[in-house]
Amino acid sequence: MSEEDESMSELEEQEKEEQEKETTYGKEDKRGGVLDYIMSLESVPPKLPPKLELLRTRVLCNNDAPDHTDTIQYSGAYASLGVDNSLRLDHFCKSFRVEVIRLEEDELEFDMIGIDPALANAFRRILIAEVPTMAIEKVLIANNTSVIQDEVLSHRLGLIPISVDPRLFQDLGEDNDYNEKNTIVFKLHVCCEQKAPRITVKSDQLKWSPYGSQFPLESKDSHPNASSKPKTYTSFSCSQDALPEFIKNPIGPKDSDIIIAKLAGGQEIELEALAVKGIGKTHAKWSPVATAWYRMLPEVVLLKEIEDEIAVELKEKCPVGVFDIEDIGNGKTRATVAKPRACTLCRECIRGGKEWEDRVSLHRVKDHFIFTIESTGALPPEMLFIEAVKILEAKCERVITELS
Ligand code: SF4
Repeated sequence: MSEEDESMSELEEQEKEEQEKETTYGKEDKRGGVLDYIMSLESVPPKLPPKLELLRTRVLCNNDAPDHTDTIQYSGAYASLGVDNSLRLDHFCKSFRVEVIRLEEDELEFDMIGIDPALANAFRRILIAEVPTMAIEKVLIANNTSVIQDEVLSHRLGLIPISVDPRLFQDLGEDNDYNEKNTIVFKLHVCCEQKAPRITVKSDQLKWSPYGSQFPLESKDSHPNASSKPKTYTSFSCSQDALPEFIKNPIGPKDSDIIIAKLAGGQEIELEALAVKGIGKTHAKWSPVATAWYRMLPEVVLLKEIEDEIAVELKEKCPVGVFDIEDIGNGKTRATVAKPRACTLCRECIRGGKEWEDRVSLHRVKDHFIFTIESTGALPPEMLFIEAVKILEAKCERVITELS
């Protein structure tokens, strides 16, 4: 056989092998196909033994302290048992779910299932510290004769949530050029007449000034041009209420009844407050959430039948009504787990002796998070979560770019 014929037959054999591999492992994802193939071999156990699986997926809430609280990350953790513990995208895509439980104006409760605690915590931290909002940053006080000091008054104003979509505004920038694209100006002018009863100044008295600041900027020029417009603390080129996004949605504090100060007869407050975009990492006033938290799904398991008086005792032990009692005929009753989600894992039901620990087992599911977001009102809670996902995505892309 000539050299040319030999190389031709080698090429043909290679092609044939490739075709065989594609048939065995699947064409689209060769690596995933290989892994699937290996995992499907009879000699490779697909799952851990039940005891190990329990420790891998559950936190055991014992009477004294929780046990097995860590997550098993190492891909080769169960290699000696022939079980692949590596994180696989196809497995994640199959198991990850989000189920909305409750959605209100300012509060969202949802279940995030099939995710690592580190990722759930990343969302929580991003929600608290990295999703931007608008908050009062600079206060120009023309007059304050109230008993509240200027700095305390400014701090109180900073903490008032503002009902406006922060995505419509730009960051202020280092040059501190306050313009209609990055600043919202509020005015507050309240005075309590002499001998009049004490008055309470509330957040609804902060009025949006769409033209920007009206306080003239102190000029170093001793002979300013009389015909020119006096300079103010902002440089708005147009009125914000003419912008399409604000025509129907005037800007104001989210809640109208937040107390700012109390004025006695003869006292007065006159100021302008400039709100800019920021994040909670810089100051808590920019945090878009009152709080964002999660807890792992509680799991309550009855280890044996609990009947009659003991069932009644168990039901009475639980302060949140997790257990119920059902009739099983012949005048007998037994305890059931009716509302496991309500369990606070107070462990009251396993206290009172070893016999109670043998009746009830308490766990937390390690990859199932009951997530709650309480918005301050700038953005609806479901939108806040989407923004948090976008921020995490951008961070991941940055890491990939740096590594590649
Ligand atoms: S741990 Fe507490 S809340 Fe949970 S089932 Fe037991 S008694 Fe009820």
